[in-house]
Amino acid sequence: RQDIGKISTGTNSLDTLFDGGIETQAVTEVYGEFGAGKTQLCHTLCVMVQKPKEEGGLDGGVLYIDTEHTFRPERIVSIAKAKGLDPEKTLDRIMVARAYNSAHQELILQEAGPVIEENKIKLILVDSAVGLFRSEFLGRGTLSVRQQRLNKFMHLLSRTAETYNIAAIATNQVQSSPDQFFGDPTKPVGGNVVAHASTYRVYLKKSGKKRIARMVDSPHHPEQEAIYMLTEGGVAD
Ligand code: ATP
Ligand code: MG
Repeated sequence: RQDIGKISTGTNSLDTLFDGGIETQAVTEVYGEFGAGKTQLCHTLCVMVQKPKEEGGLDGGVLYIDTEHTFRPERIVSIAKAKGLDPEKTLDRIMVARAYNSAHQELILQEAGPVIEENKIKLILVDSAVGLFRSEFLGRGTLSVRQQRLNKFMHLLSRTAETYNIAAIATNQVQSSPDQFFGDPTKPVGGNVVAHASTYRVYLKKSGKKRIARMVDSPHHPEQEAIYMLTEGGVAD
């Protein structure tokens, strides 16, 4: 078994929360309300993972499964500059796969093996993991199918992270309006399915200009919070 790697977030507060950084061989669920910074954290990690080990990275490439068309190359450019990396080279190491529907999202991951090996991928991001499933499977009769398919996807993500010694991030919104199937507004979409397939779960929330991250349900982290900011250069202390 290979050693577990860690990807620094580039901030002291979040690195403390994660006990050094985002781990390989694990799925980290990042959930929270709109604007909390899930996508910004993903973009920051796309840059940080490329740094050498001495600087908190894994000298690795990225597979970004973009399901909501929120990947922004110009954000990568800004963050790379802020972190002292060449923006063009940084962009070159990010393989962006746009998923058009949930079946396509599954297919991208099923066929990711060669992409991972050829590009020394050390981070897979699925932003968002649940959105397409949620929008395609509407209505009471489809709920169990949706949860089965999502479960299959999440377990494939977990296996991929373990097999290739990769860090995997799955983002997830908390519901902003009452959902007839998951009535509790503080619960992430997808219920237990995403949670059960994840090793770490982090809840992000807005607090004025600041943002708060809380480690939830970790097997070995204390349940603590960290304050961070969203800036032109990515997540920051
Ligand atoms: P959603 O659930 O809608 O996907 P999210 O959690 O992914 O939301 P993000 O897109 O990561 O949210 O965060 C958006 C916020 O990030 C903006 O409201 C703004 O506060 C901040 N932000 C985005 N770009 C910049 C920037 N260039 N400079 C400073 N802050 C920025
Ligand atoms: Mg987002």
